[in-house]
Amino acid sequence: MRCEVIDTQRLCIVILKPIDCPRRTCGLVQCRVGPIEQIRPGDVLWIPPGEQHCHGATATTVMNHIAIQEHLNGKMPTAWKKSPINNTGPDSGPERKPTMKNAKAYSAVSATSLLAPTQIPRRVPTEHDVQIEILFCGICHSDLHYARDEWHSIMPAVYPCVPGHEIVGRVTKVGSAVTKFKSGDLAGVGCLVDSDHTCPNCQAGLEQFCPSMTLTYGSPDKHLGGVTYGGYSDSIVVDERFVLRVPTNLDPAAVAPLHCAGITTYSPMRHRGVTKGKKVGVVGLGGLGHMGVKFARAFGAHVVVFTTSPNKKEDALRLGADEVVVSRNANEMTKHTGSFDFILDTVSADHDINAYINLLGRDGNLTLVGAPEKPLAVSAFGLLFGRRSLSGSLIGGIAETQEMLDFCSAHHITADVEVIPIQKVNEAYERLLKSDVKYRFSIDMASLKSE
Ligand code: NAP
Ligand code: ZN
Repeated sequence: MRCEVIDTQRLCIVILKPIDCPRRTCGLVQCRVGPIEQIRPGDVLWIPPGEQHCHGATATTVMNHIAIQEHLNGKMPTAWKKSPINNTGPDSGPERKPTMKNAKAYSAVSATSLLAPTQIPRRVPTEHDVQIEILFCGICHSDLHYARDEWHSIMPAVYPCVPGHEIVGRVTKVGSAVTKFKSGDLAGVGCLVDSDHTCPNCQAGLEQFCPSMTLTYGSPDKHLGGVTYGGYSDSIVVDERFVLRVPTNLDPAAVAPLHCAGITTYSPMRHRGVTKGKKVGVVGLGGLGHMGVKFARAFGAHVVVFTTSPNKKEDALRLGADEVVVSRNANEMTKHTGSFDFILDTVSADHDINAYINLLGRDGNLTLVGAPEKPLAVSAFGLLFGRRSLSGSLIGGIAETQEMLDFCSAHHITADVEVIPIQKVNEAYERLLKSDVKYRFSIDMASLKSE
């Protein structure tokens, strides 16, 4: 595909591939009486509504338009061409308002590259949009899996990628139809920025299972073409339906991680009825795990942490665990055989889940939220005996995410964060791989200003 329609209303297309030919006449545009310019990948081409081009092509046939240009042999179609960098669209007329602005960001350009400074386009808010200046963005292990293309078979990474889906910021502008937010409000964005709003999952408030959901990064961008870019950036523009109200009584740096680590642990515990009197295990004391401990404790459960890091024992107790088991110690593990109602597994790497299934009581459930690169082996017998179940859970819907934030506000729950400048993001990734995080990195986005 050479081009993609990004806005049929305003008849705007973005060029995806080079248009070149030996005659050097194709792939050129002229702004009415302006200079003739070459179209390059990433450029945006504007065509006024209703305008007839050579051979009668209108902008509604833009896919053909590029083909037609290639057949014009030097006759220039009338069009306006602007680059997304400093793009302000065509320079007059009601449809010619700016649609994109540049934002600073950190991106990875391949699975093996370090994250580095870049510029990305962000749309100018449309009527339902909220523009947010990002203050803090948490670093989720999913950011690392994605940037390094570890989920290639399920969700191949598209480069350049800008990760980040634990966003807290300040509203700087709202569209004319926005009712929930005004400039100056604190606002949050998690893993989702859009969905189809009509499917049964959306109707049930489970937008995370919508077949057409738009993830905060790496999903097709319905507005600008290309893919969505995440929160390792100075700003983001999101439909107000996917923007969360952030409690003002909590530290924003420590609230950011609630938008993924928080909801991902809150949701399955609510779904599985974690309450007072239940025995709950949390496997892995990282970003998700430490939030799991806090929620299980707040829900009144008896909480047992399973960790591979003996040096996290004291922290686990401080965070709310009643007991801590070093999972590499088989004796400690067997003491808990057949005793759990619920276990939340947050481990990001390959590990033996059968060891945890065996700790479940009758009808006990182990929910996986960790998403290791490789499939996990499951012994059937662990599930058969005791009618135990194994399931998964993916973040949470927007309403439940708001419920979780409100719960955190009421119970003064936040993530334990190590605030870092964006320049330390690559180092933070390496530390994540060594389980060396206490317990979430939160990027202070003011550090991006110096880039
Ligand atoms: P994290 O902060 O890196 O924590 C993962 C923890 O797992 C580590 O701190 C470590 O805890 C434990 N661990 C790591 N390697 C291990 C190994 N080889 N064997 C046993 N335990 C090991 O990661 P996170 O951000 O919490 O994310 C955890 C996983 O959840 C990732 O795979 C991420 O992609 C996934 N995730 C899923 C969802 C969802 O919706 N389902 C949402 C967000 C993230 P100890 O030191 O205590 O052993
Ligand atoms: Zn995440």
